[in-house]
Amino acid sequence: MKIPLRELPLKRDFALSAHYVGGLVAGLPMRTALGKDAGVPGEGTAELDFYIEGDNVFARGTLKAWVELACSRCLVNVRIPIKEQMMVTYLPGGQIPNEQGLEADGEDADEGDAEDTYGYEDEVINVEPLLRERLLLAVPYAPLCKSDCLGLCSKCGANRNESDCGCDRKVVDPRLASLKDIKV
Ligand SMILES: [Zn+2]
Ligand SMILES: [Zn+2]
Repeated sequence: MKIPLRELPLKRDFALSAHYVGGLVAGLPMRTALGKDAGVPGEGTAELDFYIEGDNVFARGTLKAWVELACSRCLVNVRIPIKEQMMVTYLPGGQIPNEQGLEADGEDADEGDAEDTYGYEDEVINVEPLLRERLLLAVPYAPLCKSDCLGLCSKCGANRNESDCGCDRKVVDPRLASLKDIKV
């Protein structure tokens, strides 16, 4: 995933293997919380247009991928499509904004700029950190199989999307219970 500056401008497609995508997703908390079998890796492609202006390299394009994760309510495997637009600037190594400096100053205002800026060294652009970051940010923290997923029964564990187990799940919130006695 490296592009020598002398080849610019150019347009390039990057293939993201299922192994690569799976390796990234495996490190995310929602997957470990649901167990090792919670999902299978997806795969993806990224298309990027590069051009250079002075020392600055601009890249723009699209990242498309999919991952398979467990629904955060009912644990059924669900395929999540990912599509991200990318527009970033690569600066020569020494000019990368210093993240520690930003934190020390408490300057949140600069964060947006820093996110879209990467560094390059030795006249070579490495696209991997950008693709990795965008992919990780695009994976939903609490994926759902459908927006109105009913989840699992808290009493018997049945998948309530498939059948109504008939359990009595009424739990009265203690705060609401006291409201019942208030006369309006
Ligand atoms: Zn679900
Ligand atoms: Zn039940």
